[in-house]
Amino acid sequence: MSGAKWRYDKRDIARVKCSAHGMKPEELEKYSRQILFERIGQTGQERLLNASAMLVGCGALGTSFANLLVRAGIGRLRIIDRDFVEPSNLQRQTLFDEADAREALPKAVAAERHLRAINSGVQVEGITSDLTPKNATELLSGFDLILDGTDNFETRLLINDAAISLGVAWIYAAVVGSYGVTMTILPGETACLACLLESGEDSGARGELLGGDATCDTVGVLQAAVGAISSVQAMEAIKLLAGKPEALNRRLVSCDVWSGKFQSISVERNTHCRACVRRNLIYLNGESQPHITMCGRDSVQIHERGRKLDLAELGNRLNGASRDVRYNDFLLRFRVAPYELTVFADGRAIIKGTKDPAVARSLYARYIGS
Ligand SMILES: [Zn+2]
Repeated sequence: MSGAKWRYDKRDIARVKCSAHGMKPEELEKYSRQILFERIGQTGQERLLNASAMLVGCGALGTSFANLLVRAGIGRLRIIDRDFVEPSNLQRQTLFDEADAREALPKAVAAERHLRAINSGVQVEGITSDLTPKNATELLSGFDLILDGTDNFETRLLINDAAISLGVAWIYAAVVGSYGVTMTILPGETACLACLLESGEDSGARGELLGGDATCDTVGVLQAAVGAISSVQAMEAIKLLAGKPEALNRRLVSCDVWSGKFQSISVERNTHCRACVRRNLIYLNGESQPHITMCGRDSVQIHERGRKLDLAELGNRLNGASRDVRYNDFLLRFRVAPYELTVFADGRAIIKGTKDPAVARSLYARYIGS
């Protein structure tokens, strides 16, 4: 196959040139303990300071490795997340605090604020949106690496397709209960997520990887598992961005922090892979992208509407229908018992209190508009 080229290599020369002036004294001081680790050293640190990554999803895994990468001195980090901070997030989503949950800040906004306070030398950009086939290429373009902080395979397979199309490395990661798994994917070089999940004889792989239908909303999730997997993932990212691709583990790493069992297995490329061999990128082409998706808990997301909403105007209009309308610059939330609707400025809404798309759609039409 004429696999996609892994973009990092092409940029090496440009990057060495742009770091020719070396680091500022305060950077040498800030990153001194990492520079002392000789396999990174000053050259690796300079490369990291000139590198960029795109993080999709800023929940438990996302906050954890965004923290690690920003402290390590990545040059630029873009974060996209569709959700807002809630009190039940704080046990494991380590960038957020009680004030973020009280204000119901979008996770991308809260993460950007906290990360800038942690390291003002890093360019951090938070985007409140859902990654869809329509916006994936635009949002993911121009980065050296894509990081998976999502909570569903639909979005991961979309990232996988987009990474193959763009020829950019990405790192898959998932955690549920006390168990987590991660794998670094270099399009055209290593197995991709479709090689892992879609090969014929092993159609159960997706279920086995995460314990059948278990999700964080049904069996819970431990922060310790998140910490272990995000550390492996962040280390892979740092090796790649610091110009040490030979040090990547290139294996599927899993661990169970409750039993203390750690495993690492090699994954072969599927020579007939739909995605990385045949380049049939069905998730990116969005042939079957639903406008309504389940998004964990007891909730449904509607994202079919393309035009922007005037949240203040909607708030005034809703004051008669609900006595509990609250909004900030980014979202508006109101209750119509037993439901709670959260509406974003891009027209997207998360309806809590139902798993029935028809109920969600009718609430949306009635209170927000069709
Ligand atoms: Zn593949």
